[in-house]
Amino acid sequence: MSSCLFCGIIEGKVKGNIVHQDGSIVAFKDVNPKAPVHILIVPRRHIASLLELEQEDRELIGEVFTVASKLARDNGIAKSGRGQLRPECGTKCLSHPFSSSGRPGI
Ligand SMILES: [Zn+2]
Repeated sequence: MSSCLFCGIIEGKVKGNIVHQDGSIVAFKDVNPKAPVHILIVPRRHIASLLELEQEDRELIGEVFTVASKLARDNGIAKSGRGQLRPECGTKCLSHPFSSSGRPGI
């Protein structure tokens, strides 16, 4: 979707601080972080809302959580008890990122 900021980052049209990417997911640091570590985990396929998820998306959502867990460990927020994974509402589109955020070392 051309008007989607997150798809723009995935496609390389918008600069993003990418920390993970694979065949189905791209993760990058939030430019306006709400926590010391705030990473957006975005399926490559534009999914405008959780209500668009279908049965065949179960594996994709599992991958989102697996990547979030790895990124939490890699960024020192896994053991803090403050790491979060939640659907994230975007500002310029009904968005498809999830975020992993927290404060390292707490
Ligand atoms: Zn998108």
